[in-house]
Amino acid sequence: MTQITNKEVGPDQIYTDYLKKQIFALPKCMKCKKYHFFPRTACPHCGSFKLEWYPVTGAGEVYSCTTIYRKSERGGNYNVSLITLNEGPRIMSRVEGVEPESVKIGSRVTASIDNETDEPFVIFTPTEIPGSCHTY
Ligand SMILES: [Zn+2]
Repeated sequence: MTQITNKEVGPDQIYTDYLKKQIFALPKCMKCKKYHFFPRTACPHCGSFKLEWYPVTGAGEVYSCTTIYRKSERGGNYNVSLITLNEGPRIMSRVEGVEPESVKIGSRVTASIDNETDEPFVIFTPTEIPGSCHTY
């Protein structure tokens, strides 16, 4: 894939630029081989500056979750979750596509990119909805 390697651009901008291309990518350390989030210029694990960006699977697990109560006329309740990605980093986001109260610690989720606004961001939807059946 094409690497965005403009040194004038900060890691948060690189992250956003990838999202705008519908790619969920994170910096990976070439020294200790670990990913991290939120993107930084140096690896938070070992301090190395040798970072390269790679797309991640977007698969992860709910580490913690909170329902934020909000009046329905203001959009209704929503969920704020901390997701542990398969690649290791934890990312603060929302789990959508289910009732906010039904998000559970340990639920498997998959990332998708919300590009509705100028500032795209990653949201998650459950990989499998408990108790639901396949429809054909
Ligand atoms: Zn490192």
